[in-house]
Amino acid sequence: MLLAARHLAAPVTVEQAREKEWAEAEREWRRPACTRCRAAFSDERWAEQERADTWGDDGLCAGCRQGDADQRARQEAEREQAEVAAAEARGSRSWWRC
Ligand SMILES: [Zn+2]
Repeated sequence: MLLAARHLAAPVTVEQAREKEWAEAEREWRRPACTRCRAAFSDERWAEQERADTWGDDGLCAGCRQGDADQRARQEAEREQAEVAAAEARGSRSWWRC
């Protein structure tokens, strides 16, 4: 593959060096960014997005995703607590059957 060969061999001419620089700059320019915090994706996250269905990808960086997961876990815990509290207020022991 041309790209791999170019990557392995050190550039021997100014032209090749310039071409390599341009290819890298172009790559950075194409790099997706988080739709929430605008942070550039890591190579890993970028590859993941390319593998995933574009419409199915949330477009978030790993940090924002983790933040979302934490928030969901918190909300879930709060919801469960509220359900237990409500069931206790009703004096029912079968709150999970409602
Ligand atoms: Zn983000």
